[in-house]
Amino acid sequence: MRRLAFLFLIFLATPLATPAVGQGQFTGLARLAGDGVQIAPTRDGLHLTIEMSRSVPWRVFTLTDPARLVVDFSELDWTGTDGAGHVADHAVITDLRTGLFRPGWSRLVMTMDDTLGIDEAEMRRMGEGARVSIRLARTDPDRFARMAGAPESAQFTMTPIEITRTPRGEGPLVVMLDPGHGGIDPGAERDGVREADLVLTFARELKEVLLRQDNVDVVMTRDEDVFVPLETRVSLARAAGADLFISIHADALAQGRAHGATVYTLAENATDIASQKLAERHNRSDLLAGVDLSQTGDGVALVLMDMARTETRPRSDKLADALVQGIHDKTGSTYKTPRLEAGFSVLKAPDIPSVLVELGFLSSKRDREKLVDPAWRQRAAEGMRDAILSWAEADAAAARRLRQ
Ligand SMILES: [Zn+2]
Repeated sequence: MRRLAFLFLIFLATPLATPAVGQGQFTGLARLAGDGVQIAPTRDGLHLTIEMSRSVPWRVFTLTDPARLVVDFSELDWTGTDGAGHVADHAVITDLRTGLFRPGWSRLVMTMDDTLGIDEAEMRRMGEGARVSIRLARTDPDRFARMAGAPESAQFTMTPIEITRTPRGEGPLVVMLDPGHGGIDPGAERDGVREADLVLTFARELKEVLLRQDNVDVVMTRDEDVFVPLETRVSLARAAGADLFISIHADALAQGRAHGATVYTLAENATDIASQKLAERHNRSDLLAGVDLSQTGDGVALVLMDMARTETRPRSDKLADALVQGIHDKTGSTYKTPRLEAGFSVLKAPDIPSVLVELGFLSSKRDREKLVDPAWRQRAAEGMRDAILSWAEADAAAARRLRQ
């Protein structure tokens, strides 16, 4: 069996334009062509082919826990890829997603329930275009683990997002808004509405509403359709000197006809099964996007309560209570038990009061109609603004009392 001892970045003689991506639009360096992404079974694994309009730098590697194949391109528009179709066609594939991972960097992640290693990988020119061929063959888990890991390469290095730290104290209240999902991770999708787009739109609207206040500063973990790992979202909040962190979502529930907004705080034990599943699904999104958690010392998987300082927790609770009240006052649309808890990794900042707002459920027709209505979103944003301001005032007063 032929095996590639090492498989690193394969550069083609393609001059690289500086990739610039805005609002999730690909600059169109390359797009899928011909048969696009095809996956066929072989005697001992799978054969994956990707046809594209032109050759671009690329790389391929595997990751463990769970076994994943990651293919990165600089940069490829994945429009037309049928991830769900491939999952349905091949029992070994448990998830397949494609999308923007970073500006200038497109990714395919295939999650497998067997250790299929890379046996052979190449890119061939085909006229104007190019065709990538990756042969995967069943290998033993030890060998798979030895071969796994992202190759070092300048081309694909993650550039850290820099935010200037705002001095605390007398300065403005720094609100970190975290629109959930993005890029390769679209979040929930119902009726043509993508959670990632919806919550980004809402976060921008809320930011505008908040910036009309004196002495409030707003920072966002993402302001375009890109993927941001959960841990990075927390780091960004800390780097910005955020006084509070609000993650914004609009998920779908598998069953049940729940509707209305809910607000989550961090807890090891979730309020109910649905909440637990919701948090697990979100915490898993990093894995499905091909993030190598084994490389991070303080992994998202190892999160939780031990890190949360005892004084932050009641402050998060009060913020969550205020948000429920604010949203209810302005929209009347909150879930019957709106204050919930679950182990969301993105809420793990030990020293920043953090909450996760589910504006509504995309799985509910009633909620969907509200969520896509700009007038409803405006009222929800005003409710959240009122909540943030009243919480900040009470929180500052409590801090003053403590100091005396
Ligand atoms: Zn979500």
